[in-house]
Amino acid sequence: MNSIVSNPYSNDEIPWVKGNLHSHTTNSDGKRSPQEVVDTYAARGYGFLTISDHDYLTDPATLRDHGMTLIPGNEVTARGPHVLHIGASQLLDPDPDRQTVLSQIVDSGGLAIIAHPNWEDDFSHCPQTALESWRGYVGIEIYNGVVRRLTGSPLATDRWDRLLGLGRRVWGFAHDDSHRDGDDEQAWIMVQTEYRDGAAIMSAMREGRFYASTGVEIEGIRVCGNTIAVRTRNAERIVVHSDFGRRQAAVDDTCISFTVPETGAITYVRFECWGPGDAMAWTQPFFLNS
Ligand SMILES: [Zn+2]
Ligand SMILES: [Zn+2]
Repeated sequence: MNSIVSNPYSNDEIPWVKGNLHSHTTNSDGKRSPQEVVDTYAARGYGFLTISDHDYLTDPATLRDHGMTLIPGNEVTARGPHVLHIGASQLLDPDPDRQTVLSQIVDSGGLAIIAHPNWEDDFSHCPQTALESWRGYVGIEIYNGVVRRLTGSPLATDRWDRLLGLGRRVWGFAHDDSHRDGDDEQAWIMVQTEYRDGAAIMSAMREGRFYASTGVEIEGIRVCGNTIAVRTRNAERIVVHSDFGRRQAAVDDTCISFTVPETGAITYVRFECWGPGDAMAWTQPFFLNS
C-alpha cells in the first residue's frame, strides 16, 4: 500500500521568502555591476540573492544588501556543463571531471545545482547520462529564464521526472540566470523559512522546503495522512505527476486535494500549477513507499 514518507514542507504557517540563485554581473558576462544587480532584486522585494558569475566569486561583503540576504556563489563554467556552486567559501577549479567539482562543493558545505540542462541546439547542455551518473548535487534547474531567448528549452521537468523515476532524490529549481535589464523576475524560488540568514535558507533548500515559480503563487501546502492539499492564488489548472512523468490527476481550479492511490507502482508525486498565460509553479516531489 502506498503511503507518503516524505513531505518537504511544513504544515505550520511559516513565511515564504523569494529568491534567485543565478545572476551574472560585469565580473563575468553580465551587463550590470554587482551593486546594480543587488539593487534591482532588492527593489523587487526579493529576500535573498546569489550572484553566480562564471568561474568568479563575487564577494557579497563588498555590496550594500538593503536587508536582502546575499549568499555567496559562482557558476562553475569552463571545461564542462555548468554547475551552480551556492554557499561558496572559495572558488573551485573547474575540473573537466564534474564529479570532482560536485564532491568538492558537497565536502565544503555548499549546494551544487545543475544549470539549464536543456540549453543548446541539441537540448543537451548537460547530457542525461551525466545527470544519472553524477552524485552529490542537490537539484537541477527545471526552469532557466535566460534560455527563453536562446536555443533549447528553459524547461527541464522531462529530465527531472527521469531522475526521480530512477529513485534519485533531487529538487527542482527555477532561476533567472539574469545577464542584463529585462532578465529579472522571470523565474524564482520561494523558500519556506522562519529565519532569513544564509545558513537557514541553505538548510531549507537542502531539505526541499521550497517551490519553483514563473508567476503562479502557492499559498499553502498541507499533508494530512495520504492526502496532499495545494492551494494557489492564481493557478488555472493543477496537474499531478508521478514516476517518469505519468499524469495522475488534473483539475481546473486554483487548488487541489489529492489522495495518493492505495496501490500502483508510484514512488513520488509532484504538483504543477499552470496559468495564467505561461506562468507556472512546481512543488517538490513527495516521496512514497509502496
Ligand atoms: Zn550557465
Ligand atoms: Zn549563468
